[in-house]
Order: sequence, then C-alpha cells, then structure tokens
Amino acid sequence: MNDDPRETVEFHRLPDSHCPSCRRTLNAAGSLIGALPRPRSGDLSVCMHCLAVLAYGKDLELRLLSQRDINGLEVKELRALAATIEELRVLAATIEGLCSPPR
Ligand SMILES: [Zn+2]
Repeated sequence: MNDDPRETVEFHRLPDSHCPSCRRTLNAAGSLIGALPRPRSGDLSVCMHCLAVLAYGKDLELRLLSQRDINGLEVKELRALAATIEELRVLAATIEGLCSPPR
C-alpha cells in the first residue's frame, strides 16, 4: 500500500448534480490533496471540468462561489483551493498526455 496521499484518491459517490458554471454532470467528490470526509453543506469544491470554485448547499446541490464569498474565505481555505486547482490542472495535463497519440 502506498502511504503517499498524493498517490491515492478517495472518492465519495454523490447524487447527480451539475456544475453551475459549465453544466457538466458531477456525481462524486474526491480529494487530490489528502483525506476527504463526506461533503457537507457549506463545504467547498472545485469542478474537475472547468475549475469553477463551488460550495455544497443543504442538499449537496452545488452553487458557484461569488467573489464576495471568496473574499470572505480564510487563508487556509484559499490555500486548499489553490492547491486543489493546481492538482486538477496537473491531472488534466497528465491525462491529456496519456490520451494523445504518439508523435
Ligand atoms: Zn464546471
């Protein structure tokens, strides 16, 4: 078993929802930067398709964070969001590289 949290991703299956920014279906939550408790109302998330910053509502519906919401976040929350967005960018580039035909 690998103990490096960057090498493992834990997912929680969630009811189908849609990103309010790109409208793609989202039905799972995972963490690329450490252990992930099951999402709860008020938790933050990032759309893996468009990198929009989102928050879970009371029924785990997703809403887009406003600039005012973002301005009210704590530094540790901003750092976690920045790390998540960077990890998703790296993951997307890795997947694109794996899926590209050889040159
Ligand atoms: Zn999206």
